[in-house]
Amino acid sequence: MDYSSLANIYEKLEQTPSKLEKTRIISDMIKKIPTNQLEKVILLMLGTVFPGHSQLDLGVADKMIIKSIMKSTGYNENSIINKFKETGDLGIVTKECLKSSKQMILGKKKLDVDFVFEKLEKLAKIIGNGSQNKKMDIISEMIVFSSPKEACYIVRTILGNLRTGASEGLLRDSISKAFFLEEEKKDAKNAVDYALNIIADFGKVAKIAKLSGMSGLRKVDIEIGKPINVMLAEKAESIEKVLKKYDKIIAEWKFDGMRAQIHKKGNNVWIYTRRLENVTLQFPDIVELVKKSINIDCVVEGEVVGINSKTGNTLPFQILSQRIHRKYDIEKIANEIPIQLNLFDIIYLDGKNLINETLINRRKKLEKIIKPINGKIQLTKKIISKDINEIQNFYKSALEANQEGIMLKVLDSTYNFGRHVDGWIKIKPIMESLDLIIVGAVWGEGSRTNMLTSFKLGCKNGDDIIECGMMSTGFTEKEFNYITKKLIPLIIDTKGKNIKVKPEIVVEINYQEIQKSPNYSSGFALRFPSFKNIRLDKGLSDIDTLNRIKKLYDSQGHSG
Ligand code: AMP
Repeated sequence: MDYSSLANIYEKLEQTPSKLEKTRIISDMIKKIPTNQLEKVILLMLGTVFPGHSQLDLGVADKMIIKSIMKSTGYNENSIINKFKETGDLGIVTKECLKSSKQMILGKKKLDVDFVFEKLEKLAKIIGNGSQNKKMDIISEMIVFSSPKEACYIVRTILGNLRTGASEGLLRDSISKAFFLEEEKKDAKNAVDYALNIIADFGKVAKIAKLSGMSGLRKVDIEIGKPINVMLAEKAESIEKVLKKYDKIIAEWKFDGMRAQIHKKGNNVWIYTRRLENVTLQFPDIVELVKKSINIDCVVEGEVVGINSKTGNTLPFQILSQRIHRKYDIEKIANEIPIQLNLFDIIYLDGKNLINETLINRRKKLEKIIKPINGKIQLTKKIISKDINEIQNFYKSALEANQEGIMLKVLDSTYNFGRHVDGWIKIKPIMESLDLIIVGAVWGEGSRTNMLTSFKLGCKNGDDIIECGMMSTGFTEKEFNYITKKLIPLIIDTKGKNIKVKPEIVVEINYQEIQKSPNYSSGFALRFPSFKNIRLDKGLSDIDTLNRIKKLYDSQGHSG
């Protein structure tokens, strides 16, 4: 497949607001891709060259793209930066520069999807001395070979921001639409979903759908070392309500830490976050602990918490989070912020997939294979009870230990991917913080002209994001700078001092009260919102919903 055909599809998607129409365009394309290119094209469609949920990390920043545009088109830095300020999109800037390039460009080539894919993969693999120059050479070469339209999408892919609206949800629907009949739609979606939960690789799943159909998708099994989608918790209003529904439940502390999915095969250990990012290198201490504590092939899950080495108390997630994306001085920070691993589940043991086993059986199996290491690796504390007082006291003890609350787990529930009723239920204090996504921001004034200082927040309503307030307090200067840096590449529109951004950055927000408000599309606003945390471990699918905001509003006693 020519890259120019793919670029045409990207352009069509960008110009098509309707999700149904986008699904049709993608599925029509998928049907026509030769099998040997299917995996690559599906990944490129998602704007990545890496399977799984790994963030595209080619180690390329705006600056390098600007230099590459200079090198390949002859434009000077200032004019490129000015164009960037006008458009907020280096893809468009590259396209415009190429269109009116002052340099003789003799090298135009017919780009093939394989060629672009391999170059992008290569970018990610270049490390060490001189890597910046080597990467720049590759990017410049690709720009020189490309047409303006192709270059636009190559640059956007490199920067991890394709802007076509081809979300994972759309790709799921498009894969089932491409390979299954309309009347099989429901079963096909279930089979595609199942396979994606187990292997989390859209390219592979598309290929299986094409070559082996529904039965192939249903036969997909866990492969140790490859991440599996995680089970999440529903929220409940009260312990009483949960106890009314279930006879007996397991209660565990809900730790304020990082979800870890740990795979072990022989002497190899892999660690994934809840977004399936590979953080094995960042946690050599966990790798060692797991090797000492477990001596069988398995996939287990738990919560990692940071520990204050002087007091032995757990540290807030904020502090532990410094370790999650760390690329240098890993041993040093591991010593500064030691961890404790609290295991609560097992999904694969000695060649056997356990997702259809009940929680109580899984827990028994987990207990058998873990050799606890004092204060370092242990099973989560649990009680099995139907006694409200006992569970209330357990809840109190969790809050006193500065944990988030408790998890109530249904004894005979199987391992369900995503958030489901009848599985895990979380209980947290009522005025708990909200996880919201930044949808816009405002540039500051005076000494803060180069900083974004006020942020528009969004919650979810079905597939839509709706606004629910502005927040500008609770930040340190360092945090303002950090969030500004994170948001600049996501700018999609600029009006005076106001910018709109692609919804990607999730923030945890404290507030005093929820009020009704005509100023925001949700109809609600937060009173005295303040920044608590940036949640790089969370994404769009994790943010709070309008429903939850309504419920919290009602629980304040305003209802009726
Ligand atoms: P939430 O992020 O609020 O939806 O809650 C789900 C998260 O709670 C999981 O992804 C885990 O990271 C975390 N967690 C903390 N303690 C537990 C526990 N005992 N069982 C399951 N998840 C836990």
